[in-house]
Amino acid sequence: MTRISGYRQIACPNCLARYRTPNYASINLMAFERWSDGRRVGSLFNNGAGIRACKCGKFYRLSEAIDMGLLAETKIQTIEVDENGDEIFNIPEFLRRQADETFMETLKRDVNLFFAKIRNFFVKSSPSELSTNQSEKIKRTKEISVKVPLDEKKIEHIPRAIYVSDAEMHSIIKDNSMYSDDMLLAARERYRMHLNDNFREPFIQYCKDRSLPVPSYEISTEHRENTQAILNSYLQAKTIDWLEIGDLYRELGEFEKASECLEKAKSEQYRESDLERLTRAAREKISNPLPI
Ligand SMILES: [Zn+2]
Repeated sequence: MTRISGYRQIACPNCLARYRTPNYASINLMAFERWSDGRRVGSLFNNGAGIRACKCGKFYRLSEAIDMGLLAETKIQTIEVDENGDEIFNIPEFLRRQADETFMETLKRDVNLFFAKIRNFFVKSSPSELSTNQSEKIKRTKEISVKVPLDEKKIEHIPRAIYVSDAEMHSIIKDNSMYSDDMLLAARERYRMHLNDNFREPFIQYCKDRSLPVPSYEISTEHRENTQAILNSYLQAKTIDWLEIGDLYRELGEFEKASECLEKAKSEQYRESDLERLTRAAREKISNPLPI
């Protein structure tokens, strides 16, 4: 399940304009449809490779933005404690806790407390001591301060970070000297999926009804240049992903190279069904994106 726990405040790395962006407590990457070019249809989480636009005219990635922390307020909470003043370990409550800046601290404290309780159980559980402990057990409480995400109504004056469509990736690619290699590659990957989008529906219809004509897949010069640029980046990467590289060669119609790379991918731990499907497509000289 994709779940949001409040918002974080960020600033554009270029002009310092402030925005708010969801603070994800959990993310679900499942999708109804997955394609060989990375497109996920019906996904419950679409972060758009973290690319956002700013009113200053530049684009930035969320990972490059200045993170000003969770938009939260401090509240006083009353908790139950044991005779030593330690919080009573409550598993259901622990699992319900929201992710925020204090999450790791809370986790560390609760794990320490949990092990302390196990240790105490073995150390103190002699019959005579147990009866003494039980008779002395008094229910106590103490107040602690906790950070709670602010309600959205209280932060409406901070605009949401501006999501950018796949089609707008063209602007980043065009002004490539203004952006980092990582940003440019992320933009090119999204633009590749965008350029393939028109092909998907006709191909799905063809898969359902093989009496229909096979939809043709021809890539434009712009499409070819973009795919080739992604391929060059992948070939220069520190970790070589032969399945992705093989699939890019296949999409460019270079089937021999595609087969060679996909053969190398067999020694890696890839999902077998994806590899088998793409290998067969390269052998049959099929270059279009495929549902996998
Ligand atoms: Zn800006």
